[in-house]
Amino acid sequence: MNIILLGPPGAGKGTQARRLVDERGMMQLSTGDMLRAARTSGTEMGKKVAAVMDAGQLVTDEIVIGLIREQLETDAVEGGHEGGFIFDGFPRTLAQADALGALLKELDQPLDRVVEMQVDDEALVDRITARSTCANCGEVYNDHTKAPPADGVCTNCGEKAEFTRRADDNEDSLRTRLLAYYKQTSPLIGYYYAKGDLVSVDGLASMDDVAGSIKDALS
Ligand code: AMP
Repeated sequence: MNIILLGPPGAGKGTQARRLVDERGMMQLSTGDMLRAARTSGTEMGKKVAAVMDAGQLVTDEIVIGLIREQLETDAVEGGHEGGFIFDGFPRTLAQADALGALLKELDQPLDRVVEMQVDDEALVDRITARSTCANCGEVYNDHTKAPPADGVCTNCGEKAEFTRRADDNEDSLRTRLLAYYKQTSPLIGYYYAKGDLVSVDGLASMDDVAGSIKDALS
């Protein structure tokens, strides 16, 4: 089963994707993670996208479609991924959605569901400015609801780790990211609704309840 998690920054796409990986053996394809990895490893592409990402703007379609294409084709050569793919943070524009449709068709893969995670803007600002991540395993913490452990040991991986904040998790960048979401990404809700692929879940519920709604949406 291949699915897209769609929603504004801070909606909880990454957190829910990681649960689906653990519980259903799916593979998470996050263009945000791929771009951050390219920055960390200092590739030409990573250097090129750094300022755009920090400002909260969208990286070009060409770059992100290239990243997804590369990943899907590598996987297809290796015989596919049994649990299916979760597209997290991709597509974010209509051109990306069209490209993904064409790619999946080429690889003879279905797109089974598009799960829209609905969250109000006020909650997003709150969540994002309080967010930190385990540098070792990527577990997400929140200063108000799930504070990073005082002893510095991650509750997920059990390692002593740093809990880092993303450079783009500040209020200024978040406003640009929200604007990009409403201008460029939210038209995808109508696009997938019209195709009959869309299911919407309340992303403001507790983490377990959101996971439950997603499970229902995928059954
Ligand atoms: P994310 O981790 O999904 O919030 O992505 C972090 C940043 O990476 C975004 O604010 C964009 O600058 C860039 N990015 C991630 N995915 C995409 C995409 N599909 N299209 C364009 N830019 C992206």
